[in-house]
Amino acid sequence: MSDVTNNTTESESSDQRTDFIREIVIADNKSNKWDGRVITRFPPEPNGYLHIGHAKSICLNFGIAQQFGGKCNLRFDDTNPTKEEEEYVQSIIQDVKWLGWDWEDRLYFASDYFQQMYDWAVELIKQGKAYVCDLAGDQVSLYRGSFTQPGKDSPWRNRTVEENLDLFNRMKNGEFPDGSRTLRAKIDMASPNLNMRDPVMYRIMHATHHRTGDKWCIYPMYDWAHGLEDSIEKITHSICTLEFENHRPLYDWFLDQLGIYHPQQIEFARLNLTYTVMSKRKLLQLVQEKLVSNWDDPRMPTISGMRRRGYSPESIRYFAKKIGINKFNSTVDFALLEHCVREVLNKTSPRIMAVLKPLKVVITNYPEAQVEELDAVNNPEDASAGSRKVPFSKTLYIEQDDFMENPPKKFYRLSPGKEVRLRYAYFITCNEVIKDSAGNITELRCTYDPATRGGDAPDGRSPKATLHWVAADTALKAQVNLYDHLFTKENPEEAEEGKTFKDAISTDSLKVLENCFVEPSVKTAPALTRYQFERLGYFCIDPDSTSEKLVFNRTVTLKDTWTKLQKKQ
Ligand code: ATP
Ligand code: MG
Repeated sequence: MSDVTNNTTESESSDQRTDFIREIVIADNKSNKWDGRVITRFPPEPNGYLHIGHAKSICLNFGIAQQFGGKCNLRFDDTNPTKEEEEYVQSIIQDVKWLGWDWEDRLYFASDYFQQMYDWAVELIKQGKAYVCDLAGDQVSLYRGSFTQPGKDSPWRNRTVEENLDLFNRMKNGEFPDGSRTLRAKIDMASPNLNMRDPVMYRIMHATHHRTGDKWCIYPMYDWAHGLEDSIEKITHSICTLEFENHRPLYDWFLDQLGIYHPQQIEFARLNLTYTVMSKRKLLQLVQEKLVSNWDDPRMPTISGMRRRGYSPESIRYFAKKIGINKFNSTVDFALLEHCVREVLNKTSPRIMAVLKPLKVVITNYPEAQVEELDAVNNPEDASAGSRKVPFSKTLYIEQDDFMENPPKKFYRLSPGKEVRLRYAYFITCNEVIKDSAGNITELRCTYDPATRGGDAPDGRSPKATLHWVAADTALKAQVNLYDHLFTKENPEEAEEGKTFKDAISTDSLKVLENCFVEPSVKTAPALTRYQFERLGYFCIDPDSTSEKLVFNRTVTLKDTWTKLQKKQ
């Protein structure tokens, strides 16, 4: 596994977790059902970027393989040429790798199995269990009936095997226009399970496929293809989300008719998160309508968005472990995800000082040209992280919020006549407030106590507040992007009448602060380096950041609302 630090959280120290799926695997291993084999797969359709819901499935499938000495394949379910693109394939490969998983040489594509699937379809036709149907799409639906009404047989249901073989072959050869015919399984139009009512196996689509080009103009439907793909790869535990539970009888039917290898399908509940939409269709809409900057916008629930936001792969795996696996759909609080991110970052990210809303401070009794290099601890949670030097000089910046001219009683930070500690530096006292003609505070004049170097006074006095700061001459100017939830509603999918999920998009999910300053130690750090800005939160360097224009993204604040919620209960 990549990117696992030595100081892991409880997340990965001993991975012997259990859940109902792992119990099935353990029982199967005990009974020798699969001869001790454990083979899972993650089967994305390359029609969008992966999101945090996919991460749950990835961690489950690869995690089980890892825990039980098995294997997990990465398989692209690329059966629909009109929605799929190579860009998505590449992004998915990158994201699964980044999450820390390895499929070794087992990168598969459903499109590589098209010929085999076609041959099996021919076999079903020969068995009299599939037929070519000339009903148009809307008629197929009409004939299917509903939950309360049985379906009606297609008028084409009783074609002879010869006629079906001939027509299916001609479908494949491109003799018929899109949508004019389908191949359907001949099962039972009165079945209480709608999926069993002669489902469509193949449709005609004269579309260029991202891998097979124009070789095919008939494409397999998901329900026909999916079980076959698992069978071809000799998957043992075919794990999918709950909505496929009532497709299972159909998958079983296909495999049984063909008499081929039969994996066991197991369903689990998909992940839903508050303040988030997870459907790829909706995420695509956000991108296409430019409601976000791209798939990797840090407000997106995509893996690439979370990476850009500064989430670490370890924290996403930790989150997947914490939420576990179950059989009932529910919605997870976004605060739990942030809690996991924070917990990992707290252990792993170096602290630096940055000032987001600068207020100039001049130390009147500090020598004009002097610069001192003061020792600062890199990570109090991790002694091995060591320390660094931070320059201190006559002109500094502190946060505007850390000063009040007329403070209320409980305001312990800087105000006229008050002494505070500057982190790793000195005690300072404010003596004078400078304002512009409009009355805005532009500068503070302070004095420092040279006896308090490093932040301790020999007489034992201790100010109530410790402020972060940067030295004006050496600090680097930076833009800082403050991100918040993309949606204002806990469940944006639940739109009121006449509205859509887009009506719940927040107008202040991004605040750009152009005039921030960070300490010079970050100068040569690579993109995506993660830091804790002392007292402010966790931030990472944006991939588009340059030495001319330094840009940080706020990953998460310091405040842990999840822990608070837990304490209340
Ligand atoms: P969408 O319905 O938004 O298009 P999908 O489920 O069809 O998403 P796939 O590419 O088919 O997307 O998903 C690949 C795998 O990821 C599937 O096995 C699916 O079960 C799993 N998956 C997708 N979304 C979630 C989720 N929210 N929680 C857990 N697993 C998920
Ligand atoms: Mg799907």
